[in-house]
Amino acid sequence: MATPGVITQGVKWLLNSKSPFYVKPRLNADLIQWLWHFYRSANVKQVAQAMPILYAFNERSKALYKEIATSNDFDFGFEEKGLLMLYKTKKQAAKEEELADQAHKLGVKAEMLNNQALKRLEPDMELDVLGGIYFPGDAHLHPTQLMAQMIGRLKQKGVQLVGNNSIVDFKLKGKKIIALVNNRGEELSVKNVLLTAGSWTGLLLKKAGVKIHLQDGKGYSVTLNKPNLRPRIPTILSEAKVAITPMGEDLRIGGTLELSGLSPKISQSRVQGILESIPNYYKNLPTPTFEKEKVWKGYRPCTPDGMPYIGKSPVLSNLTVGTGHGMMGLSLGAATGKILSEVVTGQETMLDIRPFRLNRF
Ligand SMILES: Cc1cc2nc3c(=O)[nH]c(=O)nc-3n(C[C@H](O)[C@H](O)[C@H](O)COP(=O)(O)OP(=O)(O)OC[C@H]3O[C@@H](n4cnc5c(N)ncnc54)[C@H](O)[C@@H]3O)c2cc1C
Repeated sequence: MATPGVITQGVKWLLNSKSPFYVKPRLNADLIQWLWHFYRSANVKQVAQAMPILYAFNERSKALYKEIATSNDFDFGFEEKGLLMLYKTKKQAAKEEELADQAHKLGVKAEMLNNQALKRLEPDMELDVLGGIYFPGDAHLHPTQLMAQMIGRLKQKGVQLVGNNSIVDFKLKGKKIIALVNNRGEELSVKNVLLTAGSWTGLLLKKAGVKIHLQDGKGYSVTLNKPNLRPRIPTILSEAKVAITPMGEDLRIGGTLELSGLSPKISQSRVQGILESIPNYYKNLPTPTFEKEKVWKGYRPCTPDGMPYIGKSPVLSNLTVGTGHGMMGLSLGAATGKILSEVVTGQETMLDIRPFRLNRF
């Protein structure tokens, strides 16, 4: 998110109720500090530093997912069909070309495609675009199937999963957490704590005296059940910032990023903005209707510099944290899990995690 030019674009989006970005106006010290660090991170130098780190992280994670997907017990729709970014305007074409250049410098394959080449990739779609950029190395999977199978595997291995326990506080002794306190006031004694509470992590850490900068990045998606017609390749509609993913026989359409202070409200106009973008890019697809489709909302734990927080707490000796993956929490999930297990068991980590330290701001 933190890239040059994003602030100007963000301000323009704030004025449009159907735009893909929104900040709920509020005088909140955490939000103001986050925006300040975000502003300071949105520059060429920071992006140049972050790109190779996040690329290596993504590649390791993809390799791990592939390894899991090819083992016999798992089937979660892992496919390497690449990713397509479609654009309609010359302005966006220039941005995408620059992106392709940067990708090449990192060693990522990226192909600029005209309408003819796009037709070969998407023969069923009548596209209304200027062109596209194709990243053949990208992969996708079915998150619901992945999570259900992971939970099944953990149970099989004897891991005890305790649901309906909202952790509201920590009991400390010196520099250690000795118990978690749940919403019923019960104490669960602990030896080690691994905190991966997504967008809620910052609020929880505050209770333990640890400060991180995290905002919620709320987004929406709609899943069309077995549509007659759909794109074959996962696609991002560049100007609209909408992601289209074929999942099994279904089609998921997702977008928007709201810094909403964990508000549970679903904004009908922003979901409408997502849905209305579909026929703008695909002439033969109708606009899905808000009323008919079930809207899902989720929160992306966003850091100001786009890097996650992974590592031991600088304050408490038995606390490890993994959060802040923003728009890439699923993609980076496998590698994050592996790194966290390495941190907790005191092994050398598969990637240098110093850029992800909790006290970097
Ligand atoms: C519309 C949309 C589309 C997305 N698309 C993609 C994509 O294509 N690729 C990708 O990689 N990522 C995508 N993401 C981002 C991804 O969903 C997040 O990065 C990811 O969910 C973060 O994972 P997490 O485990 O850190 O947090 P979460 O998934 O939020 O999980 C945190 C968990 O902690 C629990 N918890 C919180 N507080 C407490 C507490 N006090 N006590 C007990 N439990 C607690 C929560 O209930 C939750 O189960 C998308 C997100 C959205 C909203």
